[in-house]
Amino acid sequence: MARIVMKFGGTSMAGTERIRRVANLVRAQAARGDQVAVVVSAMAGETDRLVNFCREANPLYDPAEYDVVVASGEQVTSGLLALTLQALGCKARSWLGWQLPIQTIEAHAKARIDNIDAPALIAAMEAGEIAVIPGFQGVSDDGRITTLGRGGSDTSAVAVAAAIKADRCDIYTDVDGVYTTDPRIVAKARKQKAVTYEEMLELASVGAKVLQTRSVGLAMKEKVRVQVLSSFIGDGAPPADDLPGTMIVSDEEMDELVEKGLMERQLVTGIAHDKNEAKVILTRVPDRPGAVANIFEPLAAASINVDMIIQNVGRDKGETDVTFTVPQSDLARAQALLEDRRDAIGFNRIITDSKIAKISVVGVGMKSHAGVASTMFRALSDRGINIQAISTSEIKVSVMIDEDETELAVRVLHTAYGLDAVS
Ligand code: ASP
Ligand code: MG
Repeated sequence: MARIVMKFGGTSMAGTERIRRVANLVRAQAARGDQVAVVVSAMAGETDRLVNFCREANPLYDPAEYDVVVASGEQVTSGLLALTLQALGCKARSWLGWQLPIQTIEAHAKARIDNIDAPALIAAMEAGEIAVIPGFQGVSDDGRITTLGRGGSDTSAVAVAAAIKADRCDIYTDVDGVYTTDPRIVAKARKQKAVTYEEMLELASVGAKVLQTRSVGLAMKEKVRVQVLSSFIGDGAPPADDLPGTMIVSDEEMDELVEKGLMERQLVTGIAHDKNEAKVILTRVPDRPGAVANIFEPLAAASINVDMIIQNVGRDKGETDVTFTVPQSDLARAQALLEDRRDAIGFNRIITDSKIAKISVVGVGMKSHAGVASTMFRALSDRGINIQAISTSEIKVSVMIDEDETELAVRVLHTAYGLDAVS
């Protein structure tokens, strides 16, 4: 007997027909004698629809009321899944965020899970009842509904798995694992048997949309075993325990897999792209202490995430240009904030460009190997792709390029690092 959390995304929950398929998968898992908790997303497109209603109702919406509206999508799917499971003869009930409760802290619309009250849930599961939990939602200290930020159901699932000490958290999605890159761009992309937490964290944060970044960080911290797999498998398919999805593993486990010959040692594990960033250039910023702090403090105070930053070499008049990226959705706000502080910061012009993309190569192998970055720069230049900015971490190199060259860059790099599947 194992204790398993199964998480199903919006595409898997889109409509009663698909929910029935999900219910069958859940029933099969429970039929193995496992204790099962299921975490669900809203139906695909539903959260967007609800967000739009909020905007129409009041463009300056109160985040607490926004949460009331957008959390409802998951309430619907969790009730429907419990009903469908009951129709299949299973014992099942839904546990809404405020019922468990899933206690959250910090801002509405981007709340963080603080605590999940597990004993009642565990008792129900031990009694053979399948627990269905809406992802994305929680409750604040003062009893109001909160939501975790878009894509937050993954984090709900990992948090539930940690709280009930689950043996595994299976994330069922519309792809059947983590690939070397987006298979829609590179047909020769390969599915990975395993990636490390650290790699997954970087991949998620640079645009690989398989898992919410925060969920990976939490899984790493709480040592939750996470597997990514597809819910679009035939009814006769083997249960998750035997299915080759992608397992997220620790560095030590990865070493073992390599030693046993189950995984190849790779320099680069994945190539991700992100078209949702925008570039901001401030020209003729004073080249003196405090100048960049003046730029980035107001952005941080407004919760605008700055990613790549370049400060050019100062010009002769004690001035310099500063270039950085922000999420496209925050560009207008960032621009307004900076304009407001034009005198305090002392820049001349603000130039923005949303037609950029960030391409990142990720792999723990880089820690101990030189040349990963230079391979990237050479491969891109051979195709005439211009690099506008670069940033690196211990296991990642990212470049900013023209958005129109995204697909070409991803393909070229996939080949350059020897990741193409041999057919
Ligand atoms: N339904 C929410 C969203 O679309 C949460 C999730 O599905 O993870 O962002
Ligand atoms: Mg998702």
